[in-house]
Amino acid sequence: METDVDQRDEHMGTSLTPGQSCRQCPEGTYEKGGVTETLERGDTVVVVKDVPALVCDVCGNSLLAAEEVERLQHILEQAVAQGIELQSRYYQPVREGKEQKAASASESE
Ligand SMILES: [Zn+2]
Repeated sequence: METDVDQRDEHMGTSLTPGQSCRQCPEGTYEKGGVTETLERGDTVVVVKDVPALVCDVCGNSLLAAEEVERLQHILEQAVAQGIELQSRYYQPVREGKEQKAASASESE
């Protein structure tokens, strides 16, 4: 057993560790990445981008920590409560802790 856990100072409070072998295929290992999750309940669809996850480098299977799943559920519930039909957003609120790209979105509404 190796005990040299590579714990970098990241604000991901997950228990998922990159390097785990894949649950779906015999050869892959999970690497840290981001996935886009589509949540659906009733008439509400929420697309959440950049959800921190572990992604298999072979088959692309992704693992989300319980924490992320919980938060996604919360995001979905909020959207349902607001009567939103379709929402596209990033997992992280674009405020702090993350470099903001100079997105030149043309919002003309
Ligand atoms: Zn795999």
